[in-house]
Amino acid sequence: MNEKTLPCSEAQLREIAAQWPTPFHLYDEKAIRANARRFRAAFAWNKGFRNFFAVKATPNPYLMRILQEEGFGADCSSLPELLLSEKVGLPGEAIMFTSNDTPAEEFVKAKALGANINLDDISHIDFLEKTCGLPELVCFRYNPGPLKGGNAIIGKPEEAKYGFTREQLFEGYRRLKEKGVRRFGLHTMVASNELNPQYFVDTAILLFDLIAELKDTLGITFDFVNLGGGIGIPYRPEQTAVDVEFVGEGIRKAYEEHLLAKGHPELSIYLECGRCITGPYGYLVSTVRHLKHTYRDYVGMDACMANLMRPALYGAYHHITVVGKASAPHDHVYDVTGSLCENNDKFAIARELPEIVPGDLLVFHDAGAHGHAMGFNYNGKLRSAELLLREDGSVVQIRRAETIEDYFATLDFSALPDFR
Ligand SMILES: *Cc1c(COP(=O)(O)O)cnc(C)c1O
Repeated sequence: MNEKTLPCSEAQLREIAAQWPTPFHLYDEKAIRANARRFRAAFAWNKGFRNFFAVKATPNPYLMRILQEEGFGADCSSLPELLLSEKVGLPGEAIMFTSNDTPAEEFVKAKALGANINLDDISHIDFLEKTCGLPELVCFRYNPGPLKGGNAIIGKPEEAKYGFTREQLFEGYRRLKEKGVRRFGLHTMVASNELNPQYFVDTAILLFDLIAELKDTLGITFDFVNLGGGIGIPYRPEQTAVDVEFVGEGIRKAYEEHLLAKGHPELSIYLECGRCITGPYGYLVSTVRHLKHTYRDYVGMDACMANLMRPALYGAYHHITVVGKASAPHDHVYDVTGSLCENNDKFAIARELPEIVPGDLLVFHDAGAHGHAMGFNYNGKLRSAELLLREDGSVVQIRRAETIEDYFATLDFSALPDFR
């Protein structure tokens, strides 16, 4: 069980909503920092440990700065994400560049920043070398294929487009060695929103054994192993959060038994979690516009799937608090909808909630990762503002809401009068 609470009092939430028009995303700085510290502490046994926050989860420089202060790096997979990390002031070693189907310009930028470059395919060795020369350190992304069981969101590894096969890894590192590369990393990312803590320990064991074998076969040692992201969060109240201390301790034991005991020197453990770092500490706050009673009872919000796409995209559950009515009987059944002309624009289907009236404030929980970031402009919908609840209780806007001018910014109307 996990309790779905608000980051501030109901009175303060109403004050915030009076000052900034809904919908908006609200992030809880104090909780993000506390969680980041707990996360780091679970791996404090490893000297080089770092979590590279997956920028795609919440690409906001203010949140990235908070995480930088907590010792986190950034995991990037596009040029804009690299540029964002540069603007935040992250040094190269705090950036992991994990892309696929990568354009040359992204390798050029990643190399210029001194980022850790993680190759998705064996053919990218030559591509990278031709594009900008091989860096001092190269990492490969491993796809264990049938050796690792699947996970619901990311699917079976052998059906995933990412990474090297096992055979390609041996061949790839051999070629790097021939080309004079002396420092190596190994990466995998096989799960998404996984709640079983043992899954991450098992993934670590798989990689440690592989590293020991690569060392024995090729005579190379590794600077780091990146175990990827994918630690899930309990979106439903009846689910349980991943015990990060269990994961940290399990990986420590595996590290000693499967790596150090086999004669590999100390290496750095990296993770690139996004969801579990900010997800539970972000809230989408929205106001009820209309109630509609037809074959079902509908609640129409001022937010829509452009502000939080996960329910429409994956049928994902996001817990809802009706502000001021959390302890009222949940004796009504509603579809909670947005205004987009898509019937899957529903935050919840047949959800038991207290009686709702127009003007009620609804809070959608666990929207702090893969929430605002997935926004889009289909149907002329605009992305909302992002607000930060500071540790002292004050609120600052860390991204303004989009305007109609933003929506039209890519169009040039000046040629239209003469256009036939
Ligand atoms: C999306 C992604 C992550 C982050 O995943 P979370 O589920 O947010 O932890 C990490 N690494 C790669 C390569 C990704 O694509």
